Amino acid sequence: MSKVVIKKCCEYELDDVKDKIKESFDYLGGIEKLISPNARVFIKCNCVGPFDKDSGITTHPIIAKAVLQLVKERTKNIIIGDNPATRDIVFTLKKNGLYDIINEENVAIVNGKKTTKIYNSTAKIYNEFEVSEEMVDADVFINLPKLKTHSLAYMTCAEKNFFGLIFGLNKAAWHVKASNPLEFGEAINDLYGAVLETFKNKNIINICDGILGLEGEGPSTGGLKKKANVIITSLDAVSLDRVACELVKLDNNKCFITNLANERNYGNGDINKIELLGDKLDEFKDVAFLAPKDSLSIVGLKILKIKPLRNLLLEHPKIDHNLCIRCGECAKICPPHTMKIEKGKFPKLNSTKCIRCWCCAEVCPQNAICKTNRPILGKIFFK
Ligand code: SF4
Ligand code: SF4
Repeated sequence: MSKVVIKKCCEYELDDVKDKIKESFDYLGGIEKLISPNARVFIKCNCVGPFDKDSGITTHPIIAKAVLQLVKERTKNIIIGDNPATRDIVFTLKKNGLYDIINEENVAIVNGKKTTKIYNSTAKIYNEFEVSEEMVDADVFINLPKLKTHSLAYMTCAEKNFFGLIFGLNKAAWHVKASNPLEFGEAINDLYGAVLETFKNKNIINICDGILGLEGEGPSTGGLKKKANVIITSLDAVSLDRVACELVKLDNNKCFITNLANERNYGNGDINKIELLGDKLDEFKDVAFLAPKDSLSIVGLKILKIKPLRNLLLEHPKIDHNLCIRCGECAKICPPHTMKIEKGKFPKLNSTKCIRCWCCAEVCPQNAICKTNRPILGKIFFK
């Protein structure tokens, strides 16, 4: 049985957060067992874009500070950061409120540009991934995901956060390669399998910042801030995600990334086989996250493997000209370059070439990209 520690934590108050994370480590054997003296530790935040610390989108600075202070009791050999989608890491960390605390704690910021390859010998589709070298060249990997819903992946938490090992816009290329949601889920799992192989006999510690998360059209400005008042910790990202889904009352049948991981034995996604430690799930009975609009079951997702059906059955992005500031971020990331922008004008979309990856909405700083209504045919079909 894998172990997942749940700790109720309602505010970003440093001492309290630190105590909760320390207690969580104790349930998992103690920090002495998890991090050897002078180990090289990489701490992976979720810095998807230059969003405010109170947006619920990125790892909160107090979580990062608490983890840094605890890890520094064991080692000074620490690197922290992420690979944001379109902007550089320092700019993004400053906007996320993380830059100052990293400087206060005197630790190094990752340089994601230098890459290396990692491999998955049990991959289903993709057995090789080019990732940032400094992120995988560590003795201990500490993963700090946010607890959020996701328009494409339904929910994003610990396992999906490893997608940030891929540098900047290289992530967009993966959306073209694996352009339907189920294949994208397989790709995330192939990547996660490669991470597990790379960190074989080393520790991966996942600590989910669920004090403030996102519901609805996450994982970015399209989502609505929602408190789950929780920090969830586990050495098994799949189990952590399964428990997070249960805690916020999302539909586990739609958490296809977790389910695919469970089928592959990359972790334990069966709630009955997970040992829950710390606070009881009952204490969160009033917490419930809204799912992304029109999310699909596995059967629906399988149908979408037939490419031409996507245009007939699915909604596509729509730009709100009242909110759009014509920054061009959506066009910059759009994997198949179907969203285009001319200087000073609003972006335009060729919806027939849109792969519905929702990367545009993810990077939009203004929440100016929403979903059109689902076509009538899609409504009937998926019903
Ligand atoms: S327009 Fe948006 S949803 Fe469509 S392919 Fe481009 S980034 Fe993805
Ligand atoms: S839709 Fe959003 S990302 Fe695209 S140009 Fe407008 S504000 Fe920028």
